[in-house]
Amino acid sequence: MRAEIIAVGTELLLGQIANTNAQYLSDRLALEGVSVYYHQVVGDNQERLQHVLSLAQTRSDLIVLTGGLGPTDDDLTRESVAAFLGRQLQADSDELQRLRDFFTQLGKEMPLNNQKQTMRIAGGHFLSNPRGTAPGQYVEDGGQHYFLLPGPPTEMRPMVEEQMIPLLRSVMAQSVTIRSRVLRMFGIGESAMEMAVTDILKGQTNPTIAPLASEGEVTLRITARADSEADAYALIRPVEEQLYQRLGKYIYGIDKESLPVAVGNRLKAKKQTLSLAESCTGGLVAAMLTDIPGTSAFFKEGWVTYSNDAKLKQLGVPQEILDAHGAVSEETARFMAQGARREANTDWAISVTGIAGPDGGSPEKPVGLVYVAVAGADGTTVKQFNFHGDRQQIRIRSAKNALYSLLKRLI
Ligand code: ATP
Repeated sequence: MRAEIIAVGTELLLGQIANTNAQYLSDRLALEGVSVYYHQVVGDNQERLQHVLSLAQTRSDLIVLTGGLGPTDDDLTRESVAAFLGRQLQADSDELQRLRDFFTQLGKEMPLNNQKQTMRIAGGHFLSNPRGTAPGQYVEDGGQHYFLLPGPPTEMRPMVEEQMIPLLRSVMAQSVTIRSRVLRMFGIGESAMEMAVTDILKGQTNPTIAPLASEGEVTLRITARADSEADAYALIRPVEEQLYQRLGKYIYGIDKESLPVAVGNRLKAKKQTLSLAESCTGGLVAAMLTDIPGTSAFFKEGWVTYSNDAKLKQLGVPQEILDAHGAVSEETARFMAQGARREANTDWAISVTGIAGPDGGSPEKPVGLVYVAVAGADGTTVKQFNFHGDRQQIRIRSAKNALYSLLKRLI
């Protein structure tokens, strides 16, 4: 929120009094996180007041005027703001009664002049002034906020504390913009990631940084609060750059770019195609990819070859390979990926074969042993994993690692 203070009073221009109200307001608004960009001082003159208001309107969201709310003819702030906004001044019977009571308490009758202090700008509302005669006013116009405050510091300061600041806080709470950036990482654990950036995470208030981990994926959400979207991203950007410097090699996607989305985006950009040969994941990789609309642009075909027979018949994995190394082996994974790529005639193929448990493990091939192969024009890579967790976790991690293995080849 950009704020501007307009002090009204010829005495200020003549140097008879110092503009301590502006100093106080700037200091107080800074404490609220409001930046004051301009101060203006203007005499008690309607035309020049209109002029400073039009200037303020072009550049400030919050316009605070002090002074010129008194009962005499040269007190023109209320009239000038009303005229500037094209609004009526309306008599307010409650405020009139309050002012009469104020004078009664002093043992006096209210002078007729003071009636004009009970005129409210249409659509605005009063800020009461128990310490003097001039009530303050607040009016919102086209998203800009105008506060009219009395000149005497003994009246203005309590009004600021007791009425303007609480009102301003609720206005700012409504207008605050919250924006986030999510950095998505793979291939690094949550605690290793936190250790790498612990100094950046510590003491962050705006933006805040929140780590989150699920099934092998780690994310950092950077969230900023500001007056506008542009200001929020301006707060996020330097923190994001710092995090990239440390973790860039693990970051594969931003915001909603999940692993299958990232794979799809890159394949589409390269105009390349993909096929799958799945065993222990039973179609999970295909499901993750086809959850995303537009997958038909690159995904051609997938096999769930659960039995040895299917691996042989559908993908051409040689019987000797299955006999010599077993279905869960580097060699079988390699032949599965190559077979899928050949049969589907795609640029890429991924295969997954492993032991998801809880049964089927052995000392040589324990539950959680998984092989992922990626076959492409420049050869086939195979990676061995030893996952922990239950059947479901092992299957999800296998599927995610299968996608990530391809993603690394696509970069
Ligand atoms: P009142 O209801 O008392 O007439 P007002 O809102 O009309 O108040 P002014 O008449 O402009 O205010 O000023 C009244 C007195 O308040 C000034 O004589 C001065 O002592 C003090 N004052 C006004 N403006 C400022 C300022 N910007 N900084 C410090 N003191 C100020």
